[in-house]
Amino acid sequence: MSIDFTTGYEGTIGGSACGSNDHLDVINPATGKAFASAPDAGAGQLDSAVDAATLALPGWRALGIEQRRAALLQLADAIEANSEAFSALFTREQGRPLSFAAAEIALGIQWLRAAAAQDIPVEIVEDSEARTVEVHHVPLGVVCAIVPWNFPFLLAIWKIAPALLAGNTMVLKPSPFTPLCALKLGELSRGILPDGVFNVLSGGDALGPLMTAHPGFAKISFTGSTATGKRVMESAAKDLKRVTLELGGNDAAIIMPDVDLDVVAEQIFMGAFYNSAQVCIATKRLYIHEDIYDALRDRLHAIAQMMKVGDGTEEGVVFGPVQNAPQYKRVMGLIEQAEADGLTLLRGSDVPEGEGYFVPITLVDNPPDTAAVVTEEAFGPVLPLLRFSDIDELMSRANDSEYGLAGAVWSKDIAQAKAIAARMETGTVWINQNLQSAPHIPFSGAKQSGLGVENGQVGLLEFTQAKTIFVPKAA
Ligand code: NAD
Repeated sequence: MSIDFTTGYEGTIGGSACGSNDHLDVINPATGKAFASAPDAGAGQLDSAVDAATLALPGWRALGIEQRRAALLQLADAIEANSEAFSALFTREQGRPLSFAAAEIALGIQWLRAAAAQDIPVEIVEDSEARTVEVHHVPLGVVCAIVPWNFPFLLAIWKIAPALLAGNTMVLKPSPFTPLCALKLGELSRGILPDGVFNVLSGGDALGPLMTAHPGFAKISFTGSTATGKRVMESAAKDLKRVTLELGGNDAAIIMPDVDLDVVAEQIFMGAFYNSAQVCIATKRLYIHEDIYDALRDRLHAIAQMMKVGDGTEEGVVFGPVQNAPQYKRVMGLIEQAEADGLTLLRGSDVPEGEGYFVPITLVDNPPDTAAVVTEEAFGPVLPLLRFSDIDELMSRANDSEYGLAGAVWSKDIAQAKAIAARMETGTVWINQNLQSAPHIPFSGAKQSGLGVENGQVGLLEFTQAKTIFVPKAA
């Protein structure tokens, strides 16, 4: 089945298209100009979507996991049949170069298939003479899924696949900056998933709070900033909705002096700047041992000068624009602040002039730990390089953050790297690699980087309620 990706951006409620009287402009970040509009859904449409999802619940639950799995696999096939069109639309609304956009769509398909292959077994926690005690994992109800603009497709799949497999129904809200791929995903699901199982609404700033306050949702699965995550949790507390929060990070990577710079420099660079550094788990503070500091700094600077920044539809472009105007202002503000503070900035290649949100790749040479570029989550292509000598002192610097999403250690001495990993206060640590995740691997943030887990069996079970049944052996 093929659909038209160039027009007809509408929400999906109860298996049908749903427009709106109000609309949001969707801006291509490479040009700064609107190229499409998406419905700006309000309270009435939200009520209809929640009603449709509630109505669909009993039938979807009763289908059983095998049929739900089959429907999700059919959805994966339909996405695959439209993956080129998805990728092109992704680049226009998100800005990422086409080959990297295609990589996210392909990964989303793979993820959907792998997550849909999971099972939810009944656990027998006691089997004694007197009784059997069974723990079932039953669906929660209607799930509210809210996603950001940096990985608008994959992060939606992270929620859709486990939530629906477990027998819940859903209303998905994409970011107002990147609504189009999610709207098309909703359109594609019509006729594959039973009506009302998967609803999609786009909307402006008012829609998110309306959703988190809506009494029809049993759970909120949220990915976004820590500041918004706190508001989500506060709103959810009123009727004790379950929450999973995947939030911000200010991830440290630690480079020990024994690394082979020929091998690791480019990997370290991409670990910080992939997707124009708009990755929650990107390296945002790079701690380099003093013995190799100058050599690695110079290599990273040389790599930055080689990398082409530009419109993601152009050949040879590795990094697209920053995704939206507020983010552009924020990142440029951090760079200007660093300049005003007299810090040394090392710039990458020139960026296109014009209205697009292009930021030159910028390395900041050993700023003080108190500089904003070190303490704040930049979420854009500006990276502080920080010199260290003593590992104990370094650990307290690396852990001196309210965030605790992920971190990385680079060393040939794996035992030493593991010892450092054990001391990092984060939900994930990579050794000699970066940005790795997979459908079977749990992902979670420590400290103010999140609450709960996505992916893997633990992530799947977060879309269920444990229900314990005591069964006596004799009547
Ligand atoms: P954001 O918090 O501004 O918005 C995220 C989503 O929440 C959007 O859909 C937005 O419309 C919605 N929203 C805004 N205010 C809301 C409210 N009061 N109630 C409910 N929903 C509301 O974040 P962003 O700028 O879109 O994304 C960037 C942030 O997301 C960064 O901090 C990044 O680290 C984080 N992020 C985290 C992960 C992770 O898995 N931990 C992954 C990607 C991005």
